[in-house]
Amino acid sequence: MALIVQKFGGTSVADAERIHRAARRAIAAKEAGNQVCVVVSAMGHTTDELIDLAKKVCSYAGCESNPPKRELDQLLATGEQVTIALMAMAIHAQGHEAISFTGGQIGLVTDNAFSKARIQSINKQRILEQLSGGKIVIIAGFQGVTPEGDFTTLGRGGSNATLVAIGAILECDCCENYTDVDGIYTADPRIVKGARKIDQISYDEMLELSGLGASVLQTRAVEFAKKYNVKIHVRNSQNDNQGTWIVAETPNMEHIVVSGAALKKDLVRVTIKGVPDRPGIAATIFGTIADANIMVDDIIQNVMDDNTANISFTVEHGDLADIKPVVERMAKDLGGGTKATYHSDLAKVSVVGVGMRTHTGVAQRMFKALSDAKVNIQNITTSEIKISCIIDKEQANKALQVVHDAFELEKAK
Ligand code: ADP
Ligand code: ASP
Ligand code: MG
Repeated sequence: MALIVQKFGGTSVADAERIHRAARRAIAAKEAGNQVCVVVSAMGHTTDELIDLAKKVCSYAGCESNPPKRELDQLLATGEQVTIALMAMAIHAQGHEAISFTGGQIGLVTDNAFSKARIQSINKQRILEQLSGGKIVIIAGFQGVTPEGDFTTLGRGGSNATLVAIGAILECDCCENYTDVDGIYTADPRIVKGARKIDQISYDEMLELSGLGASVLQTRAVEFAKKYNVKIHVRNSQNDNQGTWIVAETPNMEHIVVSGAALKKDLVRVTIKGVPDRPGIAATIFGTIADANIMVDDIIQNVMDDNTANISFTVEHGDLADIKPVVERMAKDLGGGTKATYHSDLAKVSVVGVGMRTHTGVAQRMFKALSDAKVNIQNITTSEIKISCIIDKEQANKALQVVHDAFELEKAK
């Protein structure tokens, strides 16, 4: 008997009809002879709406504060709890047995990094008991509990991480990630004309694409999948088309130089000017930022004539409220001449492909496409399998389209 873990994202459970449709899929998998676990997200835009509500309360009538992270997680975890109960009811209504669990009820324990918590352990016993009793097990995505029992959340898109973690711990045969598009495309199909669905993609390429803005799968989920060799099938919850398989790299993947392009909007450049130019400073700065659990990217350091340096890096706009106090405190500690500035409205356009390891000319082709479209490149970063350019947010969609066109990603290779 095979074991399948399915995950339904927000749009796939947005109303009663869609919840029933998702329930039918879970039942079909069960009737085909499998044991079935289902991970669900909050309905529709619930998470966004709860975040807006929290912000509204925290800035009500002249108040000015950010929602305390513990309380925000307490609030956001309610979104997925609604869906698990409704999904179990829908399965019952269709004449089958199901049981729902929150993260805490299956002992999904995380660290206490509220809003970005990392999974530490899951107690699979309760899930296995219910599966062997013939029930479909419904699990709340995106949430866990600290060892003390406080609710945590796993970062936006965190139900993907729940899916893969459950898949890994149960040693499932397949993780099915049901979403609102047919699979992984060569670029976001909502932005790029001619974006093409990919049949299969390697973990490493997907890891880069996710990290560079392809929000269809959360980066941590792909990390887990690679580490524990969990196969993910990303597919549309509204049709039966084959989607995209995310799998270990095969030799013939190297023939494809560029597999996809991605876009990250809403980046902010933080520049710290007048930093004393002496060994250990960069380690102190980035160590402090890492301790605050904030990811930075695109680091540039320029050394000036007066023995000081300017250090700049980008962060996601959503992290600005967290990083500002950290940077301001550091600037103060470094002495009078050190000052921080913040430049918003940046974006990053990237191309990814394992074939870049063995082919040249990719960077030149990307830069030419951007220059022909009059898009100014502000910074470039590369890895073995990706090239990224920081650009103005205003030109972001155009940049993604011209880069996609330049590599003819719309054509099957
Ligand atoms: P879910 O609620 O099912 O988790 P998400 O909205 O988180 O869905 O992710 C699906 C969305 O990801 C798609 O609607 C699409 O706009 C976006 N997306 C970005 N890049 C890609 C890509 N390369 N392939 C497919 N979808 C992408
Ligand atoms: N509901 C959460 C979010 O919107 C988690 C998820 O959907 O994966 O980010
Ligand atoms: Mg998602």
